[in-house]
Amino acid sequence: MTTLQDCRALDAQDPLRALRDLFTLPRGVTYLDGNSLGVLPRSAASRVARAVEEEWGQGLIRSWNTAGWFDMPQRLGDKIALLVGAKPGEVVATDTTSINLYKVLSAALRIACSRDPARKAVVSERSNFPTDLYIAESLCEQHGMELRLVEESQVAASLQADVAVLMLTHVNYRTGAMHDMASVTRAAHEAGVLTVWDLAHSAGAVVVDLHGADADFAIGCGYKYLNGGPGAPAFAWVHPTHADRFRQPLSGWWGHAAPFEFTPGYRPAAGISRYLCGTQPILSMAALECGLDAMLAAQPLGGMPALRNKSLALTDLFIRLVEERCGGHGLSLVTPREHARRGSQVCLSRADGAYAIVQALIERGVIGDFRAGDGGAHADILRFGFTPLYIGFEDVWNAVEQLRLVLAGREWQRPEFNRKQAVT
Ligand SMILES: *Cc1c(COP(=O)(O)O)cnc(C)c1O
Repeated sequence: MTTLQDCRALDAQDPLRALRDLFTLPRGVTYLDGNSLGVLPRSAASRVARAVEEEWGQGLIRSWNTAGWFDMPQRLGDKIALLVGAKPGEVVATDTTSINLYKVLSAALRIACSRDPARKAVVSERSNFPTDLYIAESLCEQHGMELRLVEESQVAASLQADVAVLMLTHVNYRTGAMHDMASVTRAAHEAGVLTVWDLAHSAGAVVVDLHGADADFAIGCGYKYLNGGPGAPAFAWVHPTHADRFRQPLSGWWGHAAPFEFTPGYRPAAGISRYLCGTQPILSMAALECGLDAMLAAQPLGGMPALRNKSLALTDLFIRLVEERCGGHGLSLVTPREHARRGSQVCLSRADGAYAIVQALIERGVIGDFRAGDGGAHADILRFGFTPLYIGFEDVWNAVEQLRLVLAGREWQRPEFNRKQAVT
């Protein structure tokens, strides 16, 4: 049996332990929801205050040049590139994940159709995050195409001759299951299909190698594992062979080759800069940069591979402790055990009470979240994200101990834990 002392020993030996001090973690809270909203980097409050008081307050319009505001999408993009296997100049930080998906999927559809107009379908997973499916639905409608939703196990078989684009989320938001990006992309390319990858649950969480996988398009989120703050700018990457092929449809002036020439006609910038649209939210960009810098502080300690090893050790420990200490309470493991197929979260399902258990845990200072099932094959889920930058092994012990107490004392049955709130 694993003990609290074992967990403390793991923390004491953890070479990444000091990174935790780069963040403000509320006292008495074990935060296992960094996959929904990352924590506050310690540097962010003073950095944003400086952006407000000095750069905006004193510098005013001059700050576009003097405070480096204008090239923030590219500068932050270069930092993100280091985390996802992209090269400098290939990523921009901008807009939201949903909007960036609209841009890259539009470009992917135009490239696919110009190659072979007979390809009329976009394939995705039925269990993909809904905004991805909604954006794809709308684009398919505009392009006279079909959105074909399949189960995870059917992805390979779905790559038929009429498929234009395969759009997948690398790590599933509900289950934590991870695709093998390289082998799925290879199969797609062999079938003449372009790939669009959503890295919302993988950038900053697992090793991503966009060039190594030969991916075509990717987008990701700034406020989850990248700790950019609520509603932080997201990012977009396009393989250099595709980047200049089409203007993306949101052809705003920030994507123009020379925005300050104020010409009436649109001329797209070269490369990824054409994926910008309008004026960027500089205060949010400043906060996101703090999150990225905290992430990059892990580079000298082994970077993403070292973070990934720790993340797997944390999720392995969580699974083991739940099995050792919370058996007999009807919990089952949804996330794959196999390391190669697991993201940085663990999901447990239970036939009933999942929502109330999560609420009772929050009351005890352990913050995870709840994701509703579909009333059929997919049961309600308790979801726990493990961000190796700031979660330790004793945190895992504590989370499981509180879960054990909630279950053993039937605490979750109390009425106050069974009232649903707007945001779960
Ligand atoms: C979190 C998440 C998003 C978020 O999109 P927003 O535009 O930021 O609301 C999109 N896709 C996936 C797969 C996500 O996990």
